[in-house]
Amino acid sequence: MTAYQCPFCGLSLAMSQDTYANYFLNFHDVTKFKNNAAIWKRDNLTSIKVAFIKCPNCKKVSIYAFGHSKDLDGLSVNIHPRVNYTKYPGYIPEQITADYQEACSVLEFSERAAAALARRCLRGIIRDYWEISKSTLYEEIRALREFVDAELWQAIDSISQLGGIGERMKQADGLLLDVDPQEAHRLLKLVELLLKEWYIARHNREAIFEEIVNIDLDG
Ligand SMILES: [Zn+2]
Repeated sequence: MTAYQCPFCGLSLAMSQDTYANYFLNFHDVTKFKNNAAIWKRDNLTSIKVAFIKCPNCKKVSIYAFGHSKDLDGLSVNIHPRVNYTKYPGYIPEQITADYQEACSVLEFSERAAAALARRCLRGIIRDYWEISKSTLYEEIRALREFVDAELWQAIDSISQLGGIGERMKQADGLLLDVDPQEAHRLLKLVELLLKEWYIARHNREAIFEEIVNIDLDG
């Protein structure tokens, strides 16, 4: 982890001794040192790593637990806050942020449910922002090509072509389809990217235009 976004205030912070600490724990012992914990891993002693990240801006501490031994391989739990998602401003339609937040909330328990919600959220975004409505998400994404710049299109296209993601975008909304590892994560990253590139960028642009128009020439 090199850069990290605080889930409480949104600040991007660099990992350093002042902001990041992690501990390895098992039934008998706790250590701050990876070398000591490496022996636990070798002996497959059930153990976890707990990471603490302290935000220099809001001073809040976020906490995560990860599996360290082989029997806990892949374990990743948000301890505080329990659900880690970006809080979006009210000018983004509520249905879209509700789907996004719900997808993040269920991600820990069900990749399939999170991916289904993320696909629904993507459709909501494309339909609302571009007023593109086709019979499948896959077709809606293809139709975006003429509206978005080459760089963003490449990002959208590369995600929609990964593994079976595109195939599942051809299915009806809300279906709990089997997913590739990390599929829900990838779809949620795409949702976050589009919210930033479209809704937030448009809002910021409009705010600047308004500022320009309202500049007091006598001032
Ligand atoms: Zn913060």
